[in-house]
Amino acid sequence: MNHGREGVMDRFAVSPARSTSGPYPSPMSAPERPAWSFSRAALWRECRRAYWFHYYGAWEGLEKDPTEEALEIRRLKRLVNRWMWAGRVVHDALAAHFTSVQPTPPHQVGDLVRRRMRQMYRRSLRAARERSPYGFCLQEHAYQERVPPEEWRELVEKAVAAVEAFHGAPDLTLLRETPRERLLSVEDIVRFRLPDCGEVYVVIDLAVEREGRVVVVDWKTGRPRPEDRRQAMLYAACARLRWGMEVEALLCHLPDVELLEVTWEEEEFEELRREIAAELAAMDAAHGDGSAPPPREEFAPSPGPGCAACRFRAVCPERGDGAGSDP
Ligand code: SF4
Repeated sequence: MNHGREGVMDRFAVSPARSTSGPYPSPMSAPERPAWSFSRAALWRECRRAYWFHYYGAWEGLEKDPTEEALEIRRLKRLVNRWMWAGRVVHDALAAHFTSVQPTPPHQVGDLVRRRMRQMYRRSLRAARERSPYGFCLQEHAYQERVPPEEWRELVEKAVAAVEAFHGAPDLTLLRETPRERLLSVEDIVRFRLPDCGEVYVVIDLAVEREGRVVVVDWKTGRPRPEDRRQAMLYAACARLRWGMEVEALLCHLPDVELLEVTWEEEEFEELRREIAAELAAMDAAHGDGSAPPPREEFAPSPGPGCAACRFRAVCPERGDGAGSDP
């Protein structure tokens, strides 16, 4: 991705990177001043009340005396749906290829993924049965949603196909065989500051150094979305600042192994930057002074079709008809 040194990115500063603390969201994280991310913004746009549940609902009594509702929100907050789970398993398997001392031989990766997903599935069932507020739990199990067995099997085989495609694709040989000393980032959470905006979080799936440039790769296991390009541009902006080299940003769809280079569009990035600035200012104003959770009434619910898939529907009296409520 080529962009001149005088481009918009030169006005940014990168904070030190932090490693990921784990693959699944922590239900116990204390609220900080908002930092913009694609997932935070998505929740903000979808339903402010769901946003409140996610970022503030578990806050009350976080340290010593949590209310019953806060405990319940904590339990719901860490749920992941089956598609998020499958995508996460693929990302973990790919990350393991780059970071393990002894990576799994390619002919065994499929079975490893199947075994891991089977174990996680059982763990999730147990967590749902015990109503545990900790550990991995699928939303489908917590809400006892009916998913036919063949759908679960299909999900697992899709994850297997994605991981096997990564290991078998000739187009990915160069990336797969990146020497360890050329690896810059594997699933790191990187935080950086946009001037006049605030803090932004990105998760860089893979960044490698190649011939004096940074190649940033974003693995995609779902359907292509319009925002994929914008995500890649933001990752590239961060990479450019963090490592000070030209950046090539790639989207890699799996299992098709469709590699797409994202070209830098200054205008498009500037538009994204304006959106981030506006959203972050609104999130920050809603956050208040940080001494207590902001009142939930200030975060309007958006009842509608999305309620049926909302993690928080069990504690949300505003949920739309037909969303169901028993967790
Ligand atoms: S159930 Fe519906 S209204 Fe309630 S938080 Fe979820 S999406 Fe928002």
